[in-house]
Amino acid sequence: MSAGVCRGRLLVLRRNRPTIARRQLSDNELAEEINRLERALVQTRQQIIDIQRRVSEGMGALEGSIFDAHLLVLEDRTLLDEVARIIQTEKVNVEHAYHSVAERYAATLAAIDDEYLRERGTDMRDVAVRVLNNLLGLEEEIDLRQLKEPCIIISHDLTPSNTAQLDKRHVLGFATDVGSKTSHTAIMARSLRIPAVVGLKNASEELETGQYALLDGINGVIIINPSDQTLFEYGQIMLRQDTLQESLRDILREPAVTMDGHHVVLSANIEQAADAEQVKANGAEGVGLFRTEYLFLNRGHLPGEEQQYQSYREAAAALKPLPVVIRTLDLGGDKFLAQMRVPTELNPFLGWRAIRISLQERDVFRAQLRAILRASADGNVKMMFPMISGLDELNQANALVEEYKAELRHEGIPFDEHLEVGAMIETPSSAVVADSLAKRVSFFSIGTNDLIQYSLAVDRMNEKIAHLYEPSHPAIVRLIRMIVDAAHQHGIRVSVCGEMAGDPALVPLLLGLGVDELSVAPPLVPQIKFIIRRLRLSDAKQLASFALNCEAAAEILARCQDLARRIAPNLFENK
Ligand code: PEP
Ligand code: MG
Repeated sequence: MSAGVCRGRLLVLRRNRPTIARRQLSDNELAEEINRLERALVQTRQQIIDIQRRVSEGMGALEGSIFDAHLLVLEDRTLLDEVARIIQTEKVNVEHAYHSVAERYAATLAAIDDEYLRERGTDMRDVAVRVLNNLLGLEEEIDLRQLKEPCIIISHDLTPSNTAQLDKRHVLGFATDVGSKTSHTAIMARSLRIPAVVGLKNASEELETGQYALLDGINGVIIINPSDQTLFEYGQIMLRQDTLQESLRDILREPAVTMDGHHVVLSANIEQAADAEQVKANGAEGVGLFRTEYLFLNRGHLPGEEQQYQSYREAAAALKPLPVVIRTLDLGGDKFLAQMRVPTELNPFLGWRAIRISLQERDVFRAQLRAILRASADGNVKMMFPMISGLDELNQANALVEEYKAELRHEGIPFDEHLEVGAMIETPSSAVVADSLAKRVSFFSIGTNDLIQYSLAVDRMNEKIAHLYEPSHPAIVRLIRMIVDAAHQHGIRVSVCGEMAGDPALVPLLLGLGVDELSVAPPLVPQIKFIIRRLRLSDAKQLASFALNCEAAAEILARCQDLARRIAPNLFENK
């Protein structure tokens, strides 16, 4: 789902795959057939890289990185070897060989009950259509860039490549039969800010081009031939949305200060240096969480010290004098890395993850710590360690920072001698011993995504138990208070950088509990600032004291929602 509402005529793209003929070849034609495959691969690679560049420039590095997955699929050795083998042994044309292998791979992936792998099936088909079109000398099925009239696109699936080419002037919105909230297509729609609904099952078969419809990306529905009453109601929703967007724009350059004068540091979470632009554009006060693992994912080799240094330095220099908090590698869990051969684990979130990997893979950690230290000479850099579960890990990590500082001093390489080092508090054990940890760091950053999953024993990726994943659970409220108390007793500040900080209904609770800083995804910064500017810290404190004495998550949540809706009704009125 992607926020927003639109109305207009439908353009239904029916599935129209090229028919692939099987041709029997003679022995002396086989070598040329393999050459054709190689040429089509080179051509496809170039097209993907071009799209990736356009998407990265237009939308952001994270969206662009979706196409890294396409390049990996395109260059999959196992698949290509199998295609070559079929050409040689069956003596058939490359189109037939490539199509049959790719389709088998895609069908296997699509049938797996795992959203991530199903998405890889979509990537596979996207890449395969591109390769086949190049082999057959065909243009893309429908060149979406050429749309003449603004319309709502309905299709079975819109591949990320298709989505990247949507021209916002001509595409009012789109809906697809397949896909989920976390599918690449939905992620890109959100970045493009095009209203979209995914997962409508058989819309592309039932709807007709030319029908008039209203698409509601907020609630995930499409209404054909809407009545005057419906149009009127949605007209009101759109007006309210425009007004809200205007209010958010008005405060873009204003500070995040409550009505009773309390300043909250509101920063943004980023994945790559290029995202620094978005941080500024959304009015954030720096970066509260730079997730560095994205530098390591989707590439053929580990980035070395120099490459990391360039990336950290770029972010720090772009935002100077605003702070950039760089988190050391948080691999493991759901973020794996082909090159490191992380063994399959029964409980990856409880396994070889984050700081545990860094403390064992000393070369990798050393390169990263030195890169961060060096970048601190070029801006306001801080660093923090993920998944600290006790004092030993923190002591070891701190000692390594000191060791590498000494190395750099010895080598005459500049860095900030006063660089602040913090710990993420995202395990229940670290929350309980927060007083010990607080003596040894300059700040805390609470990773609520993990803190909630570990404290409540609720896997953050499992849809079946999603209803048990409750940020307003009394245990979470009390843990956050414990962490804040420990930090403040030792004179250090506390930030929250998990998704909880980006939920406007829960922000007053966090601030009432004493949290000093929030860090959220860049597009969420304006609305979080909006609610902070309409909040009285005294009301937030009252809410927190109610929550600390309450026994039921649902009651706490209801109170949070009451307060948030009362002070910032416009943020909630279309939901
Ligand atoms: C968290 O756990 O809340 C957090 C910010 O880290 P990540 O989501 O990267 O695990
Ligand atoms: Mg985490």
